[in-house]
Amino acid sequence: MRKCPRCGRILPETDFAPRTRHCKLCRRDYDWQYKYGITPEQYYELYKAQDGKCKICGTKLEDGKYLDVDHDKETGHIRGLLCNSCNKGLGMFKENTTAIRNAADYLENNKKQ
Ligand SMILES: [Zn+2]
Ligand SMILES: [Zn+2]
Repeated sequence: MRKCPRCGRILPETDFAPRTRHCKLCRRDYDWQYKYGITPEQYYELYKAQDGKCKICGTKLEDGKYLDVDHDKETGHIRGLLCNSCNKGLGMFKENTTAIRNAADYLENNKKQ
């Protein structure tokens, strides 16, 4: 058992994120706050609005897992919550909307044959 210096809760070792002094929940809050500028309250608002599903593919994550906070890297505006695959996918496509549409068309067209 160990005490988290941020929230002061005493928790088992398994509730601590690797290589950090803080518990997983504090770590998560920290990530949201500093990486995305989102508070846990804002996250849950989005989460509720999206019914806990990825805004692109509709995947619902199991309890205890969190959707990625997708934000516009230029403006910092939060676009929505996405599953890790979709979030990574957007990155792979370099957020090029034409390429993403083309990819969808490409798959559709090949299905018909
Ligand atoms: Zn904590
Ligand atoms: Zn998704």
